[in-house]
Amino acid sequence: MKVVTIIGARPQFIKSGAVSRSFIEYNQTNPKESISEVIVHTGQHYDSNMSDVFFEQMNIPKPAYQLDINGLGHGAMTGQMLEEIEKVLLIEKPDWVMVYGDTNSTLAGALAASKLHIKLAHIEAGLRSFNMRMPEEVNRILTDRVSSVLFCPTDSAISNLEKEGYNDLDIAIVKNGDVMMDASLMFSAFAKAPQEEIPSNFILTTVHRAENTDDPERLKNIFKALNTISQETPVVLPLHPRTKSFIEKYDIQLGSNLHCIDPVGYVEMLYLLKNCSLVLTDSGGLQKEAYFFKKYCLTLRDETEWVELIDNGFNKLVGADFETIMAAFKNAHSQSPDFSLDLYGNGEASKKIIEGLLKHK
Ligand code: UDP
Repeated sequence: MKVVTIIGARPQFIKSGAVSRSFIEYNQTNPKESISEVIVHTGQHYDSNMSDVFFEQMNIPKPAYQLDINGLGHGAMTGQMLEEIEKVLLIEKPDWVMVYGDTNSTLAGALAASKLHIKLAHIEAGLRSFNMRMPEEVNRILTDRVSSVLFCPTDSAISNLEKEGYNDLDIAIVKNGDVMMDASLMFSAFAKAPQEEIPSNFILTTVHRAENTDDPERLKNIFKALNTISQETPVVLPLHPRTKSFIEKYDIQLGSNLHCIDPVGYVEMLYLLKNCSLVLTDSGGLQKEAYFFKKYCLTLRDETEWVELIDNGFNKLVGADFETIMAAFKNAHSQSPDFSLDLYGNGEASKKIIEGLLKHK
């Protein structure tokens, strides 16, 4: 069996790191029925600290194809990726195309596979924010619809698909758990402090969603809150390149106790997650990782796809309003939810993907 994996953005490298490792383990125990994985890197994220570092740290096999498509608007980026991925698929003739999450690389891979009638597996399927202004929401809805098998991380993802009528479609739905849980279990023991000096008892923050960075009011409010919070508790912020350029564009001042550092690798991120006292983020992945590492999380968005975190009191949506963020921050110290719940599976999500691909081939 041959699988072409399409990846291009940081969270996809991390997720595929777990799944590629499971392919390698499967092949070691099943040498006669081995699965060959051909990795295509679209180039959406290309800085070494947004891309190479994950291949090195997670031992992800070297991509067979580097498309180097980046720095373009949504249309040009998705269109060029579609064109180039189609060429790869015509050469490779795989049994499966596998795509992750909700980026332009995901959608381009999905369209290329479906137009060539190649079976498509979508990892992290069924998630919805119900906000059609998010490019990610459009990408995930369209990708789900042209998939052959949908690997869903949560019950809410399954229920979203049911509500959209997927039970009447010829698309297999598998609840496999969360591959990010697999990655955190696989790599937790390798957690390593970043090169920069990290203060003790700090809050870990990331900000990069377009709805926050591209809106000057929201970004200014968020940084006003981070500056204010950092006067009480140091804040560590590995800064996404996109956010960095908007901070400069909007001339946002950064307080001295707000430690902005370059984006870090995955093992450094695991160190920060293990050692922080609270997470404040607009990242999808980090909301879950906060939960994996038993840290309360404030989410700088108006909605989330990870609703079970909200429903069970592990996470609170605070949007980008200064007063709301500050009120939730003051309240965060008194939150002690029961982290023993099993929301995202037990680290077997990647193995279940392989089982699913074999079952539905
Ligand atoms: N991450 C990382 N280094 C950083 C910031 C984030 O390794 O400097 C990891 C983080 O731990 C998580 C993933 O990147 O596993 C989340 O990616 P991102 O926030 O870019 O995307 P999203 O999850 O929102 O799609």
